[in-house]
Amino acid sequence: MPDAARSFTYTALPGRVVFGAGTLVRLPEELERLGRTRALILSTPQQAAQTREIAALLGERAVGLFDGAAMHTPVEVTERAMVTLRELDADCTVAFGGGSTTGLGKAIALRTDLPQICIPTTYAGSEMTPILGETAGGVKTTQRSGKVLPETVIYDVDLTLTLPASLSVTSGMNAMAHAVEALYAEDRNPVISMLAEAAVGALAAALPRIVEDPSDRAVRSDALYGAWLCGTCLGAVGMALHHKLCHVLGGLFDLPHAETHTVVLPHAVAYNASAAGEAMAALARALQTDDPARALFDLAGRLGAPRALKEIGMPRDGIGRAVELALKNPYWNPRPIEAEAIRSLIARAWAGEAPSTA
Ligand code: NAD
Repeated sequence: MPDAARSFTYTALPGRVVFGAGTLVRLPEELERLGRTRALILSTPQQAAQTREIAALLGERAVGLFDGAAMHTPVEVTERAMVTLRELDADCTVAFGGGSTTGLGKAIALRTDLPQICIPTTYAGSEMTPILGETAGGVKTTQRSGKVLPETVIYDVDLTLTLPASLSVTSGMNAMAHAVEALYAEDRNPVISMLAEAAVGALAAALPRIVEDPSDRAVRSDALYGAWLCGTCLGAVGMALHHKLCHVLGGLFDLPHAETHTVVLPHAVAYNASAAGEAMAALARALQTDDPARALFDLAGRLGAPRALKEIGMPRDGIGRAVELALKNPYWNPRPIEAEAIRSLIARAWAGEAPSTA
């Protein structure tokens, strides 16, 4: 057992997972298992056409589609979906898509307590967490509630084959960030640390092979498995500096979610390297390196992912504001939050420089 001298508390979250290739066909029986007969299907506008297959599978048990899901779960969108849900007298939701669609399903569950079936098509991992971030008037607030944890998750590897390689890489690195922070979370525990190490290893091995051949089902399966584990890690323990920085940067400059995680992760790992020895040892094993921060930075570079915040829309004159907000109400972190070191971290991440442990 890692960190043997520590005592810990571990709360297992409920939830049913169906995993495999072609598992979408299990949807009708999963709906029946929940005792539901009137499903409202949720998607983004971009994935609306793909939901036809779901509607066909469910027949009369699909009462309609709401295809307005959007990044960061805007409250106005949720309110529109609620009107549709009530008009159609739906008794559950089926969220088909990435974290944006899952977020909408969770926001509906928070307001109605209706059961949710999630069919994830990215590696975001939100389907495994009781966390909901919602945006109102440009401000994002995050809460944890058992009400938003989906009852059933159907992972169908086949549905991830259409995720473009570039999105697969950033989505996969977003997932890895959940596992990395779980390794040094204040409330970490040996079960979740074991999952986290396996998850980072699975994704680090799978992502380069997805870039080579996005249609390789076996590799896609490894990546989705890793993403499931990463989501489980995020759902089980607290977040630290990396997630705090991403929430600040995403909120201030409306940066794309997965790309922001991809850029920041190596820098957050470097910042915490000196204060989280056991986590770094686990990452070193998973990434087969003696410098996990550098290995993550190099991996992003090799896979053609963005490595600079300036590349994804953050203005240079935003660095000061970001530092200021990052220092306010910081999340617990293994290394104390030091103003100058955080300023240097954000400046390096903005410029696309390699991470520094200073
Ligand atoms: P996303 O859901 O916005 O999807 C990105 C784009 O990819 C969308 O246009 C979508 O339609 C498209 N897409 C998704 N799957 C596809 C596929 N298989 N093939 C082709 N196109 C596909 O992006 P995301 O990164 O999955 O989710 C980001 C959102 O999730 C953010 O709002 C973030 O805050 C949230 N999130 C929440 C948690 C949590 O625990 N609450 C965890 C992770 C992410």
